[in-house]
Amino acid sequence: MKHEFQSYFKKLLGDENAYFDEIHKRAYSYDATKKHYLPDGVLFPRNEEDIVAILRFCNEKQIIIIPRGCGSGFTGGALAVNGGLILSFEKHMNKIIEIDLENLVAVVQPGVINIHLQKEAAKHGLFYPPDPASMEYSSLGGNVSENAGGMRAAKYGITKDYVMALRAVLPNGEIIRAGKRTIKDVAGYNLAGILIASEGSLAVLSELTLKLIALPQYKKTAMGIFPDVKTAMYAVYKSLAGGVNPVSMEFLDNLSIRAVEAKFNKGLPVEAGAILIVDVDGNLVEALEEDLKKLEKYFLEAGALKFQKAKDEKEAADIWFARRNCSQSIAMYGTLKLNEDITVPRSKLPHLLEGIEKVSQKYGFKIPCFGHTGDGNVHTNVMVEDKNDSLAVQRGYEAVEEIFKLTIELGGTLSGEHGIGLSKAPFMKLAFTEAEMNLMRNIKKAFDPNNILNPFKMGL
Ligand SMILES: Cc1cc2nc3c(=O)[nH]c(=O)nc-3n(C[C@H](O)[C@H](O)[C@H](O)COP(=O)(O)OP(=O)(O)OC[C@H]3O[C@@H](n4cnc5c(N)ncnc54)[C@H](O)[C@@H]3O)c2cc1C
Repeated sequence: MKHEFQSYFKKLLGDENAYFDEIHKRAYSYDATKKHYLPDGVLFPRNEEDIVAILRFCNEKQIIIIPRGCGSGFTGGALAVNGGLILSFEKHMNKIIEIDLENLVAVVQPGVINIHLQKEAAKHGLFYPPDPASMEYSSLGGNVSENAGGMRAAKYGITKDYVMALRAVLPNGEIIRAGKRTIKDVAGYNLAGILIASEGSLAVLSELTLKLIALPQYKKTAMGIFPDVKTAMYAVYKSLAGGVNPVSMEFLDNLSIRAVEAKFNKGLPVEAGAILIVDVDGNLVEALEEDLKKLEKYFLEAGALKFQKAKDEKEAADIWFARRNCSQSIAMYGTLKLNEDITVPRSKLPHLLEGIEKVSQKYGFKIPCFGHTGDGNVHTNVMVEDKNDSLAVQRGYEAVEEIFKLTIELGGTLSGEHGIGLSKAPFMKLAFTEAEMNLMRNIKKAFDPNNILNPFKMGL
């Protein structure tokens, strides 16, 4: 980075908020993909005015800017793949600005960590439902930019369902407001809708207005134990189609169960082909019991071996701990994990899992699967034993491509929550026509004609 540019940013933000040294560049060179790309510097804006000044300057000088929340992204969205400056909100822009108790709305800066909003809302008897497994180390700006999902989406939906309005800074430094603090707003194009899941490629989100709801008083947890994956998947869509409305319906296959047990020993049934973890919530304990009874009936009809209610909060917490720690546990199956978050219509889940088993047999890779099956969202993990074996890695990607093709054939999508970023960019052509891709490229151009904001991602 040219010395005169460095001087500009240091003068604008102060030495303590503009870094060009090796240590900072390395610290911000990676995300959860574990790939490394060295940026040219790291900036910590103190407020929206700083973002405006930074973007205006970068647009004029054609300097790449990569907005970054906590770097927990699984698809490389926050990586400086072609250099440029990291714009981080974690140091200053991490405040909850307002909890509006009359309209049930929270106004936050983009760097607020998800769990901090959940805790603050709960103090007022309110609830912010989107809870990615990364909720303790992902930011709301990152959640909105990826349209994060979570464990409660089956009943409460995903991040987009809670974004009422936002403020954002365009690459040329102009500030836009999209949406309102109203339940309804159909005036003009849905600009907030375009910015949600735009992965930092269109504008920098500077303030978010998020919907809160009343915190349900009671919650109960149970686990269905199944002989195989197919019966578990059948139970998912049969019970949901039958009108039960659980908060979550999470799935672990046998490989995932064994991995979590090997690491944490939480008492999961290691012989089971699959388990489904369900939560129900509400304000009437009797209604929750009724919901569990219905779920038990549907699960047993589908072929479950057992339906087990958590006997106390500790047992429920252990079950959920196991689910939340699947991702790290399966590392025992290989040194390279090619993890995807494909999503299909729920009735297609049995076909999807059957197809993945065939891919596993064909390529000889273990493919542990777990995820948010209540939303049709499955995390598939092609495990390559030795990441230095280039042939095996290549075959791993071939297996991933087959899984994507199958997903699309089943009417599904490449990503239910992690986004496209770098990792899935090569597969966009499987899911979109040239006309659709061109439309997306034109949207990018309309927001960012000089291509300075997180460029060369999402296959654009
Ligand atoms: C163990 C683990 C479990 C996970 N579980 C889930 C899960 O259950 N559900 C789920 O959806 N995801 C999950 N994720 C993925 C990840 O946590 C989410 O994608 C999360 O939303 C990323 O937030 P972040 O703050 O870390 O964003 P980052 O990774 O820093 O950035 C993500 C993208 O957002 C952009 N961005 C960030 N802030 C802004 C801003 N203010 N303005 C514009 N663009 C911005 C970046 O440029 C980048 O493209 C998991 C990750 C891990 C490591």
